[in-house]
Amino acid sequence: MAKSQLLLPSLVLLLFILISKTISQSIIQLSRDRDDVYCNSWRFSVETNDVGYWDYVPSGCVSYVQDYMTGDGYRSDSEVVASYALAFAKTVEIAGDGKDAWVFDVDETLLSNLPYYVLHGFGSEPFDELSFDKWVDLAEAPALQASLDLYKELKQLGFNVFMLTGRSEYQRNATGKNLLFAGYSDWERLILRESSDKGKPATLYKSQKRLELVNEGYRIHGNSGDQWSDLFGFAVSRRSFKLPNPMYYIP
Ligand SMILES: [Mg+2]
Repeated sequence: MAKSQLLLPSLVLLLFILISKTISQSIIQLSRDRDDVYCNSWRFSVETNDVGYWDYVPSGCVSYVQDYMTGDGYRSDSEVVASYALAFAKTVEIAGDGKDAWVFDVDETLLSNLPYYVLHGFGSEPFDELSFDKWVDLAEAPALQASLDLYKELKQLGFNVFMLTGRSEYQRNATGKNLLFAGYSDWERLILRESSDKGKPATLYKSQKRLELVNEGYRIHGNSGDQWSDLFGFAVSRRSFKLPNPMYYIP
């Protein structure tokens, strides 16, 4: 057989392979783009609390959440929220009586547990309390940088800062150690769940603790948290600042 007769079928085959590869890559890209559009809308509905209670990140959105959390999106969203919080804080007239307060949540607000969630599916796995408690005990969570910057500015402005967390009293030492490790200092009080708070929905527990502060004469101007349950309820702050968290929902 002549060489040119062999070459033609090989060229046709090569062309076929190249075309099918390009088509399949385009289909994959199209479906990824379609998933990203959906996942972006899902994240919007989660952050606005339109979804209400939800269990896990939808399986089609795990890599989207991973990209968001580890890329520029999460950092930028947190910075923008913090910048609005600071702009509001600057409008508050500090009375100088030590009663002008700001409340911060801890997990995914002051501290970032992202190193833990990187190893645990970015919210796609059921919450494992034992394993998370071990991570808490390490006291190595880094600060969410936008919150650390805001925290320092608020201290400068003269706010008294309260940390109100769903963590339990037995985690006080580890939590305090971690907050110092992450760069926080001079907080007014770190409030954790006591045994009498066990089983209370976060909204109720946090509202009751805020009410205690109000009854002590504190004026809660601002409240920063990654969960709506940090911000809703009674004895709410004048302004609430919802930080992003597409990994889990705490009612
Ligand atoms: Mg939190």
